[in-house]
Amino acid sequence: MTPATIVHLDADAFFVSVELAQRPELRGKRVAVGGRQRGIISSASYEARAVGVYTPMPSQRALKVCPDLILLPHEGDYGGVSRRMFDLCEEVTPLVQRNSIDEGYLDLSPCGLRDAAAVEARVRQLQQRIWDVLQIPVSMGIATNRLVSQIASKLRKPRGFVVVAPGDEAAFLAPLDIGEMPGIGRKTQPRLAARGIHTIGDVLTRSDDELAACFGNGWREFRQRCAGHDERAVQPDHEDAKSYSQQETFGTNIVELDAITNVAKGMIDHLMPKVRADGKRVRTLTLKVRYADFTQESAGKSLPLASDLEGDFYALLTPLITKAWTQRRRALRLISVKFSGVDDGPVQMEIFDENAAKRRRLAGLLDQLNAGKTGATVRHGHQLETPTAGRRRGLARPPDERRSG
Ligand SMILES: [Mg+2]
Repeated sequence: MTPATIVHLDADAFFVSVELAQRPELRGKRVAVGGRQRGIISSASYEARAVGVYTPMPSQRALKVCPDLILLPHEGDYGGVSRRMFDLCEEVTPLVQRNSIDEGYLDLSPCGLRDAAAVEARVRQLQQRIWDVLQIPVSMGIATNRLVSQIASKLRKPRGFVVVAPGDEAAFLAPLDIGEMPGIGRKTQPRLAARGIHTIGDVLTRSDDELAACFGNGWREFRQRCAGHDERAVQPDHEDAKSYSQQETFGTNIVELDAITNVAKGMIDHLMPKVRADGKRVRTLTLKVRYADFTQESAGKSLPLASDLEGDFYALLTPLITKAWTQRRRALRLISVKFSGVDDGPVQMEIFDENAAKRRRLAGLLDQLNAGKTGATVRHGHQLETPTAGRRRGLARPPDERRSG
């Protein structure tokens, strides 16, 4: 029989773990990461969880519940550690799907492993290697599909390792609390309990009518899931094919709209030559802002037609920033822009827009100049601010800097 090869990896208390990797002397203590003043807890050590600290919880309340809590600011290189963690996964298999900063799926079927023991050995090796290289503890679930592996990985945290053999899916799920099913939240659960549905197995004992009443339109699929069926494949992220994105963390928090707009424009200028170099166009611009306490908001807007010109997207920036940055009095710690809705069909715009054709020729010329080995970079007007001014305003570095050299 072919062994189960789908793995769900879930880092344990990820943000705290990243901090503890830098400060091992804090291991075993009640530690959390979060903003102090009006902030929230974004991650808590298992020792802190044991006394009632959870996420997201206002930091001030956490400090009341647990007065000896060691509260660290949310300032680590979480993105960098996450990338290195998934890089280690990609050394095992090319089929890696990042779900969030700290969890994702792997499919080990291309590894040619003979049996379940070989799969388990390889996954344990990876778990150990992530610890050895990054000092990040992770939990692993192995099963025949994504849903079951995901539930398995969360079952025995931290450093969990749970394997569900092929054919055992339904029996594995049946006794588990219905709240373990993705999509069943704290609000839904009491409603289900009132109907006597406490476990995942309980769902399978109910009539079609009852399930339709409880779960609405998606009830058939939900019942399938509760029986342990899930056809979704692990989809490796070829990020470049699906979207283009960049983010910038500020050295200090920023409140000026102009500064934010300029950084965002710089990102558009950084990404658009890549879009053109790939022979693509993009339609949707999504802007995300993050406050000092790590709460974030985002807004997206699409052009009527896909474009590969910076100027077409500049016009979307102000409305997007206004829409995403709802708490205008609060300073921003990070912004990111993402282009999606990638299109590589024939260009339609030029048929009725001669001006766009001219601008595209100009953009192509700029790309060529910038790709030359002169060391000089042709800049757009809004990039002409000196690096000193950027630093004074708290920018970590001018956004175009990463292109040169
Ligand atoms: Mg996690």
